[in-house]
Amino acid sequence: MRLYKEYICSAALNAGFIRARVLSPFNFDASRYPQYAGGEKSILVCALPYGNQHQENCLPPEAGGCPAAIAPFARFNYYREAVRRMKRIASLVRLRYGGEKCSFRILCNSSAPEKHIAAASGLGAFSRNGLIISPEAGSLFVIAAMTLPVTLESDPPLAGAGDAHFPLCVDCGEKPPCAAACPTGAVLGNGFIDRARCVQWYASGHGSPELGLNGIPATVRAVWGTRLYGCTACQDACVHNKCPIQGVTTSEGRLPGFIDARELLRLSDSDIKSMFKGTAMGLSWLGPRSIRRNAEAVLEYQSLRTNSG
Ligand code: SF4
Ligand code: SF4
Repeated sequence: MRLYKEYICSAALNAGFIRARVLSPFNFDASRYPQYAGGEKSILVCALPYGNQHQENCLPPEAGGCPAAIAPFARFNYYREAVRRMKRIASLVRLRYGGEKCSFRILCNSSAPEKHIAAASGLGAFSRNGLIISPEAGSLFVIAAMTLPVTLESDPPLAGAGDAHFPLCVDCGEKPPCAAACPTGAVLGNGFIDRARCVQWYASGHGSPELGLNGIPATVRAVWGTRLYGCTACQDACVHNKCPIQGVTTSEGRLPGFIDARELLRLSDSDIKSMFKGTAMGLSWLGPRSIRRNAEAVLEYQSLRTNSG
């Protein structure tokens, strides 16, 4: 089994994943995750970096319109890219060692507890802003995992990692940069985010109607900025994301850096669906209603700024 593990981990690294770990013994609790449970003995956990050296630098149009920004992590569909690469690894491993196709289940942006699996395997450690930080790619990566039908030697968590311990955050002091940078004070600094204040949480379609503008509170709209999708302030400020981190190259789900918010609001639901199909903004939980609401928040923010200026 040692050779099996060496083979699968080097296949993952060769495929562009920046870190590959194995968690074993591993099986899903069938009562909580019946869709994933069945025959797995170990799980391969990998980090696919999107980094901060972006494939394209996007500047807003110089004049006219109302440019609404798409964050770099969403300008390509890194989830889809990670799954594509995992499938290739599964084929290589099955070719060499056999195993039923259904034993190699791939999880990426799934409802499984991917962050907890990543932390338990030592892919990274929980940080004070609630994200997983890896030694090689900071928090600028997507997690992809694959169940395995064999029991491999397990990798340990990172040294010092635990439920309330953040081994990669030790130098950040009382008011860490991630918390200071958050426009709404949503980073609590204890590993949790106050979702009710998080721009990204609302940008992902959450909220309740009584909060105004279809569910986004005025305090959050006041700092919404030009974000059509993706608040990255807490990640941009993190000390682990400051050095150059190379991301993988992909052509999956390419989106522009900016879309005109007014133009977007003129589109029908089906136009919006086809515009974002196959992209990181085309996921089922982020429908036309949420995207339109984000565009409205950008327009409202711009008009508040114009009126106050
Ligand atoms: S995503 Fe934005 S609003 Fe949410 S916690 Fe991070 S910086 Fe704050
Ligand atoms: S800025 Fe500091 S405290 Fe915040 S997540 Fe990064 S390392 Fe941790």
